[in-house]
Amino acid sequence: MRLYTFPKWLQKLYPGAIWEFSHHKKKTIYLTFDDGPNPEITHYILGLLEQFNAKGTFFCLGEQVEKHPDIYQEIQDRGHTIGNHSMTHPNGWFTSKKKYLSDIEEASKLIKSKLFRPPYGKISHPQFRALKKQGYHIIFWSVVSYDFDPALRKKDLIRKMKKLTHKGAVFVFHDNPKAVPVLKNELPKLMQFWKDEGYIFEAIPPK
Ligand SMILES: [Zn+2]
Repeated sequence: MRLYTFPKWLQKLYPGAIWEFSHHKKKTIYLTFDDGPNPEITHYILGLLEQFNAKGTFFCLGEQVEKHPDIYQEIQDRGHTIGNHSMTHPNGWFTSKKKYLSDIEEASKLIKSKLFRPPYGKISHPQFRALKKQGYHIIFWSVVSYDFDPALRKKDLIRKMKKLTHKGAVFVFHDNPKAVPVLKNELPKLMQFWKDEGYIFEAIPPK
């Protein structure tokens, strides 16, 4: 089963975390891209965003930033915001608090941002509380696209994304090689849909 949204009861377990920006009167949505920067896809996304006059947020992996500092810089030069997505993408549920925090701290030496998105959306309560204490804003999402899942039919992805679109929604995509086919074929169509519906695309403000 694919869970496109977090159930409300689960959201309550993480007080102060951000799932979406529901205060919006404007038709604004937030596109986010996890796991980059990646030479196979990040440039493509940057070009697409520019074409739609869109700003987005890139939750980068420290180990990718280390490999591709030029792309990392370009993301910021083009006016998008960045967030910390850890150094090595650990699953918080199966990683000790100490190890988890040190992974994020390592990434923070490269990624100067207090926005943090837990890999897989999986973070334990002690990890969550510790990061909040360090001043991090934990950003989950309203809608995850499953763009990385080859078993998902493209029509289903588009239909789901359209149906779940609402003011202030935070969408997750991946600048990860696994998501390349979906991003190149489907994301432009979705962006056109959102544009036609009158949505604008903003970056999550850095804190
Ligand atoms: Zn990730």
